[in-house]
Amino acid sequence: MKKWIVLCVSAILLLSACSNNEEATKQANTNEATENNNETTTNELTEETIVKGEEGDAVPMIQQALIDIGYDVEETGVLDSYTVWALTDMQLQLEDIATTGIYDKAMKQVIEEQLDQTTVEPAAKLDRPDSNDHLSLAIDNPYEVLALVNKSNALPEGFEPEDLTVPDVRFPFEEDDPKKQLRKVAADALEELFEASEAEGLNLFAQSGYRSYDRQVAVFAANVEKHGEEHANTYSARPGESEHQTGLVMDVTTDEVGFDLIVEFGETDEGKWLKDNAHEYGFIIRYPEGKEDITKYQYEPWHLRYVGEQAATEIYEKEMTLEEYLEAKQ
Ligand SMILES: [Zn+2]
Repeated sequence: MKKWIVLCVSAILLLSACSNNEEATKQANTNEATENNNETTTNELTEETIVKGEEGDAVPMIQQALIDIGYDVEETGVLDSYTVWALTDMQLQLEDIATTGIYDKAMKQVIEEQLDQTTVEPAAKLDRPDSNDHLSLAIDNPYEVLALVNKSNALPEGFEPEDLTVPDVRFPFEEDDPKKQLRKVAADALEELFEASEAEGLNLFAQSGYRSYDRQVAVFAANVEKHGEEHANTYSARPGESEHQTGLVMDVTTDEVGFDLIVEFGETDEGKWLKDNAHEYGFIIRYPEGKEDITKYQYEPWHLRYVGEQAATEIYEKEMTLEEYLEAKQ
């Protein structure tokens, strides 16, 4: 049979005609189908990156693997709150892996190793969310990079990230200060962003990153004293509602605006470059111009929030806010 196909194909090439051409195609299709079948039966986990809210054929396999490891997740086919919780809890227990709540090639390897020999203890680092049916209940999992923190979703009072570090970037001040810190995954990404901006001849400076709950209590109280509560609430956050507590945010600035955090920063070369390039490093301009009714914040061209490259690119391309992006995934 094979010999016949070879002959027939040769005939096509020579004569551009073969009465049994259709049959040869059918045979080729059958071979392809058999190959695909084999792929699904080997239970190979995907190497694709999958973020919260995404669905697909690869997701139930990931969920089944997590169940086999001992996690109380459901096989829903969507990277839902339980699945993201399980990924994050594992990441927090293992060294050399970024804590993100995202499934990717590195997590494929981790899961395969854990299936082989389980060393993690489910829920040892992070409590399982109460519910799986509402994706924006991200606050159950303050470690995931898509956690939604805003005036309606507060972080747990005691939340202090375990993986804070000082990124190797320029600051306009010398002294040690907790606000220099970011979570590891965001710090690494910020270093790359700064490097790329320097290559463009730009002068970015990091001004303010991690802020603890207690620090935000003091900041908000000072603003209320100075401007009154209503005014303070429009440009600063109540304790627990500040994204800076996630450790995924850095306010950046430049010498041209005196290292201040002001709207004019958006008009500098640095501000313009960030607007169009930050997503390539996993950051978004969290409070864009014209979206104040959604974010409940004034335009802040300096406030960079890490969400991971995949989500950041979609948010940039569709000119969305994080609120709109998460809403669309529900
Ligand atoms: Zn900020």
